[in-house]
Amino acid sequence: MNNKTENIQIKYREHYLKKINGFEVDYNKILNKYLDKIRKIIFDHSNNSGNLNKSSKNTVVKSIKLLNNWLRIETEDIISNYILQTIKIALLGQIKALKWYAEHIGITNSDINKLKNKYNKEKITNIREEIWNKKWSDGLNIDTRLDKLNKTNVKEINNIINKNLNSNNTIIVLFNNIVYRTSNPEGLSYKNQMLRIARTETNSAYRLTQKLIGEDADNVIGIKWNLSTSHPNYSYYEVCERYAKEDHAGLEPGVYKPKDLPEVPHPECLCYLTFLFKN
Ligand SMILES: [Zn+2]
Repeated sequence: MNNKTENIQIKYREHYLKKINGFEVDYNKILNKYLDKIRKIIFDHSNNSGNLNKSSKNTVVKSIKLLNNWLRIETEDIISNYILQTIKIALLGQIKALKWYAEHIGITNSDINKLKNKYNKEKITNIREEIWNKKWSDGLNIDTRLDKLNKTNVKEINNIINKNLNSNNTIIVLFNNIVYRTSNPEGLSYKNQMLRIARTETNSAYRLTQKLIGEDADNVIGIKWNLSTSHPNYSYYEVCERYAKEDHAGLEPGVYKPKDLPEVPHPECLCYLTFLFKN
């Protein structure tokens, strides 16, 4: 019985994973636009020999700051959009699982109508808001994290402009490096940090949706914490292993009462959740 509902839940989670894999492609479009605009600003303020005019430096710094505000807004939009879509996929997957359960156990399922009424547009927006405002253990939520990254980005860019480099080609290579660098003595690139935020926050949204539905559905008695198949082997008893293996509610190992389900314990956690039903 649980196997089938579990498969439905796993399938919908795969839909979500596929969706979030598309984030990189979408975000690259924004970043390429951003870099094109930077290139244009640099060339507009360069002399014939391809060097940035010293007298334009302040104007360039100001223009790039404005451009970064644009990037900040675009980034917020796209992450917010992916969170909304994630919640919708999670909602659909849980309803499908509940439906299958009801049909096969031969009960009229009060859960389905209840959930369909409750999880309307407004409720979905509320879940998104909850994710948006959620603070992680470093004290940051999405907004403050994006602000911080934006600030670092502006600072790095100003450093490059202030170096008085003698060719705008060099400047552009350095800008590209901030955004896209793959080897990283200086830490993750701007883009990779955004991918990390998008993956972590959508994952968090998916699980929050499952938790809320688990709490609302009369036929769900528990939520099982499952380790992802790519869970690494740690030399110590890692937090997710504890969640997945220990008995938390006297039901089954790894199963929590929906209201007691812990939050995602670390960024990029790929553990997944399945429902434990009555009977
Ligand atoms: Zn995990």
